[in-house]
Amino acid sequence: MVIILSQLLKNLLPYNNKLQTRQLSEVEMIVIHCTELPDIPSARIYGEKIHYDSGTGNSGHYYVSKQGKVEQWVENNRIAHHVRGHNPNSIGIELDNLGRFPNWHKTNAQIMYDPYPQVQIDALIDLLNQLKKDIPSLKYITGHEDLDTRLIKSENNPEIYIRRKMDPGKMFPWEQVMKQIPLINTGSLSKKS
Ligand SMILES: [Zn+2]
Repeated sequence: MVIILSQLLKNLLPYNNKLQTRQLSEVEMIVIHCTELPDIPSARIYGEKIHYDSGTGNSGHYYVSKQGKVEQWVENNRIAHHVRGHNPNSIGIELDNLGRFPNWHKTNAQIMYDPYPQVQIDALIDLLNQLKKDIPSLKYITGHEDLDTRLIKSENNPEIYIRRKMDPGKMFPWEQVMKQIPLINTGSLSKKS
């Protein structure tokens, strides 16, 4: 099934214009995330929250719903806050997925069990190919879990340390996606296959 990227809806965050700008030629990497929330409207509420003195918050550039609808929340030439230490040269793509919701940091919820529907993966692949066309400097792709490997104390068992970030997680079909996009995977999951 081919998803037409004209379905892409531009739905910029209210603080988009307050995010720092960059040259498109500085963009080298895609970071795949999942929202770990029930749906896109919940992710929007989270994304609109202000966390910084600049009047901005945390979000990806793109959001892909389980039905394969793609929304752009931040312009490509602006630096979004989506991954610690790698924001200036990357684009963040968030996939609608429950992840560990709602017990993100409890020991008994450390499984990424929610499957990614094929229509969502197809839309993601189309988006990735379009971005590579629009931004020739794009070379790499990886998962948030590969860039942020910090451990934190579990909320319910403080003697146990758990992963702060696990997205997009083991349900994400890296092998299938990598066959259909012209990017190099620098993440650990790709190295196993
Ligand atoms: Zn993430």
